[in-house]
Amino acid sequence: MTTAIETPKCLVCDTEFEVQDDWEKGEIAECGACGQEHEVVEKTDAAVRVELAPEVEEDWGE
Ligand SMILES: [Zn+2]
Repeated sequence: MTTAIETPKCLVCDTEFEVQDDWEKGEIAECGACGQEHEVVEKTDAAVRVELAPEVEEDWGE
């Protein structure tokens, strides 16, 4: 049996990511369709999981 890697999908628009071999945990992956940034939270030979990347807090420069 062939085990296909589970492809993560964009949490916003449901577009599948193209998983890159050099992705590592913590990698930021941008959705090719909507541009939403996702953080790779798990990368194994069997599955890649992504979550929405935490928004960078703006420095409002008070
Ligand atoms: Zn998307």
